Amino acid sequence: MAFTPPKPLRPGLFLDRDGVINVNHGYVHRAEDTQLVPGIVDLCLRARALGYALVVVTNQAGIARGYYSEDDYHAYSGWLRGHLASHGVLLDGIYHCPHHPDAGTGPWRRDCDCRKPSPGMIRTAARDLGLDLPRSIFLGDTKSDIESGERAGVGRLWMLVTNPAATVVPVGAQAFLDLAAASATLA
Ligand SMILES: [Mg+2]
Ligand SMILES: [Zn+2]
Repeated sequence: MAFTPPKPLRPGLFLDRDGVINVNHGYVHRAEDTQLVPGIVDLCLRARALGYALVVVTNQAGIARGYYSEDDYHAYSGWLRGHLASHGVLLDGIYHCPHHPDAGTGPWRRDCDCRKPSPGMIRTAARDLGLDLPRSIFLGDTKSDIESGERAGVGRLWMLVTNPAATVVPVGAQAFLDLAAASATLA
């Protein structure tokens, strides 16, 4: 029987959504509330040209809290995917956690292993898409983002800092004041 070598793993650029892709106005779920963070399109285009898979990893406790339904979330997510595609940015995957440990009701109220800072979404994406986590980057804007990347074994942890006076950059993370600076560091 012929031996089929496994497909080589790609590195991923994991991106938090709110505050990294779209400006965080709080539980954004409508097209009209969406403003892209300056520099996100250039960063994504550059990463993809360098061979990175683009993967969004987002906590969506607004679903557990009943601020919007999972259907609303998926409709918005589809719109955002198309909006980025209209700028030439093709996402390889979008992973979301609809849960909250102690808010909301029904199936969404539970301790899960996907809500950041847990590493579940990153691990699932890595399995689905064939990603090499030590060669990957996690770009987030909170301590919880950085912790999830660290726990999943992502090699480079990047933190976008929009308010330096109020932000403590976790040990092991590299801080960037804007996405152009992050893009310039890509290799
Ligand atoms: Mg965020
Ligand atoms: Zn979850």
